[in-house]
Amino acid sequence: MLKLTWDPAWMNPFESHWSIIEKIKYANAITSLDFVRLYGTRNFKGKLRNQHKGLFHFIGIDHNLLFESISTDLSRHTEYYLNKMTGMFSWVKTDRLLRKEFSFCDDCLSMGYHSLFHQFIFLNKCPFHLSPLSNSCKYCGGMFSCDKHNHKSKNGFQCSCSNYFVEPKFNTWSDWQMNLTIKNTLVERWVTMDLNAYNRINKSFFYVPALINMDAPLQFLLDFGNKRS
Ligand SMILES: [Zn+2]
Ligand SMILES: [Zn+2]
Repeated sequence: MLKLTWDPAWMNPFESHWSIIEKIKYANAITSLDFVRLYGTRNFKGKLRNQHKGLFHFIGIDHNLLFESISTDLSRHTEYYLNKMTGMFSWVKTDRLLRKEFSFCDDCLSMGYHSLFHQFIFLNKCPFHLSPLSNSCKYCGGMFSCDKHNHKSKNGFQCSCSNYFVEPKFNTWSDWQMNLTIKNTLVERWVTMDLNAYNRINKSFFYVPALINMDAPLQFLLDFGNKRS
């Protein structure tokens, strides 16, 4: 059985699946192609399945095999935080609440961290640094869909043009263990809302395109959830 260099302490709250896989690639000096050859699931002809929605759900990855190599259940970690961020939207599929194009915060990504918040359609700024999000490579201008995890031979945190999306500022792997504080108070209130507010939002219906057009959809939903009846 193949053992990979990995420490579960490198995973941070609200870290995306993509981010964790980039860390595995980086720490073990393997490319995306190596990774899917090792852990990708195959069809009956032995061909690799498409890494469909690779950024959000690890679909197309053999979880048992990966678990044996790193002794960590990655999907449990991210599903927990994904649920904390979007679990109250029971009437819409989670994927519709996440941007299809890869978006990132330069400050976060320079430390090897990409957050589920960066993909959340109701946020345009990083809740940790309050800086606007980027969605294209500074070198090739490419934008990337999260629908497919490509099989190209790129290393951890690199764009398919083989430049880093953001030049890494971490010096050792222990730098990956971060203590990020949510500075956006609205987002902080969103992920710590009480059960009453959660259930109230959960049992109602909102039209997502209308929410997107609002100035502060999370504020609107929190007000709705906390309204005294
Ligand atoms: Zn950030
Ligand atoms: Zn590029």
